Amino acid sequence: MKITQIKTAEVRVKVKGRPRYHYHYVRVHTDGGVYGTGEASHVDGGWRGSTKSMAVQLIGMDPRDVDACFEKVRRSYIFRGGFAGLGISALTGIEIALWDLAGKAQGTPVYRLLGGKFRDRVRLYVDSASSDYRQRAEEVRAKGFTAIKFDLDDAHNPHKLDPWNWSVTPDELKSMVDQAFEIREAVGSLDLAIDLHGRYDATAGLALAQALERLNLMWLEEPVPPENIDALAKITQATRTPICAGENLYMRHGFRDLLQKQAADIIMPDISKCGGLSECRKIANLAELYYIPFAPHNNSSALSTVADAHVCASVPNFLALEFHRYGDPTWDEVILSEEPAIQRGHVVLGEKPGLGVELNEGFLQAQLQQGEPLWQ
Ligand code: MG
Repeated sequence: MKITQIKTAEVRVKVKGRPRYHYHYVRVHTDGGVYGTGEASHVDGGWRGSTKSMAVQLIGMDPRDVDACFEKVRRSYIFRGGFAGLGISALTGIEIALWDLAGKAQGTPVYRLLGGKFRDRVRLYVDSASSDYRQRAEEVRAKGFTAIKFDLDDAHNPHKLDPWNWSVTPDELKSMVDQAFEIREAVGSLDLAIDLHGRYDATAGLALAQALERLNLMWLEEPVPPENIDALAKITQATRTPICAGENLYMRHGFRDLLQKQAADIIMPDISKCGGLSECRKIANLAELYYIPFAPHNNSSALSTVADAHVCASVPNFLALEFHRYGDPTWDEVILSEEPAIQRGHVVLGEKPGLGVELNEGFLQAQLQQGEPLWQ
């Protein structure tokens, strides 16, 4: 079996007639007619060009040699982001398509090729931007979700004196802590995570983590920016609040320092951005050496969410996978599957080969300008 062609599809899914969700898909074709589809996340306009130049190197290779295909391109890209950033994210989209293809070619679900599953249902947590905490918590609990996340960082906090300075004033700190206690009270016994989006300095980040200790959070996410692992480690070691980090790290290499220094209590690689299914399974395995749970970041469409679930099913230390599209009326439209991809707050994996779902090309085509081809 040989790779013959790789195509890309860029779609802005409309909600109420306006482009809202921006997705990037990749399709790998073979001489046998079998194809696989992947998705790359957090990429920009350079993604299509990068994918096209990577494709040239893969023509003629056997798509079932997923890791070798990945590593061949990655090594050639070392001067162009072969360890982090756009290069890796574009390659990740191809990697996910290769797994889908390898599964279909062998008539088996991807999780079986990753070593088999520890669980049939992959737990999701709802990332919520709502400020009506109680109502949102009741809704998601009724739908079977067991965990929720709210944002606590606010660049427009009225007590903030300087938009560039990452310190918190006493009144700002108090308003944030009060808000966090209000959230905990509203969500009751749901597992609760709080995100700070890396918007605080080391002193402010630690003050917040310590002030929230009594809330028994599932985690506090990224109290400081991602570049300095030592600063993060200092906070993690000085608080009982579990600290989660890693949504902006790439590959095993990006997580090595964080894991060796035990700079976070929980890690959250973005699977469709930071290296793909094989790489993230390896990252989860490394985290397991330190008894660190794996709770992937995910801001992608249903296709990537299902792909992520195959990795989450295949590692023992999985905690929860992010679901960023709660309330999105187009969520289920993007893919075709026999049953809804999400049931009672979980992604349910079946026995269908590959990822087990296909893109709904009719729906995606309808989002484009008339005459524009979906696959280019
Ligand atoms: Mg986050």
